[in-house]
Amino acid sequence: MSAAQTRHAARESLAVRVATPIGVLFTAMAALSTLCGVLAAEPPALPQLPEPAAAMALPDVEVDSRVAANPCADGDVRAHLEAGDDDAAVASFGGGAEFREAVISGNAPCISLSDPARSWVVVNKQRPLQPESFAPASLSGIGLRTTTLSNELRPEPNRALEKMAADARAAGAGVIGVNNGYRSYGLQQRTYGEHVRDRGQSGADAVSARPGFSEHQSGLAFDLVACSPGCGSIEAFGPTRQGRWVAENGWRYGFIVRYEHGHTGTTGYAPEPWHIRYIGPELAKAYHDGGFHTLEEFFGLPAAPDYQH
Ligand SMILES: [Zn+2]
Repeated sequence: MSAAQTRHAARESLAVRVATPIGVLFTAMAALSTLCGVLAAEPPALPQLPEPAAAMALPDVEVDSRVAANPCADGDVRAHLEAGDDDAAVASFGGGAEFREAVISGNAPCISLSDPARSWVVVNKQRPLQPESFAPASLSGIGLRTTTLSNELRPEPNRALEKMAADARAAGAGVIGVNNGYRSYGLQQRTYGEHVRDRGQSGADAVSARPGFSEHQSGLAFDLVACSPGCGSIEAFGPTRQGRWVAENGWRYGFIVRYEHGHTGTTGYAPEPWHIRYIGPELAKAYHDGGFHTLEEFFGLPAAPDYQH
């Protein structure tokens, strides 16, 4: 009888693991009720029975299931979101893949892909920054060689970029420099306006994002150049040692190459191996491991080949 009950407990434990949260609750209640029945019927046998251990394991299982069912109610997720620690919040979902799954399935109402303050914001030709005049709360100067006056980023991607550049150099991939980091709405307005004057709106749209629609305005994106010893152009970056190293290893630091070859129909941009976007290490790992090539595809969003008007 003892062996039969052990097998029964093992089966029930497995059922708890795969059950839906409601199922977990009922299974747990059933297990507890079974246990109570056992206690009432055979009190002297209690020390030899395995049920108490199974019952003790139930709260952990229940906590895990509750996180999967409603991650936004999880204390760790809420605390990290309030503290602005986006990567830790993703980790509290169980990792980037779990975060992605929760967002896509509509199971993470506390996560907005439109919030420009978050590292998971998606900005494209159909998803402007909201508000379009958004500016990051904090910016810091990039501690690498820079080739324009657009030489700031938000602190988190900035630290990750400096670490990546140091590691690339130590690995023999040469010196990485930055062409453009953060660009304000005002700067984008002036730049785009000049292009419109020179080549008309469709001509301007081919080479410059409209103000309010550039990832550079989020403070999470930047354009890289290879500096060995002089710094080259952004267009030359892709095939350089630095460009290849970043494409291969950037995800380890929380980065993705945002506009890859062959995905213009989704991103709305021709390939830009120099344009790097920070999404944080947890999400970048899921992006890399899942073999994704666009942020739109990663988050199950519609393609954004062009502006709506
Ligand atoms: Zn760029």
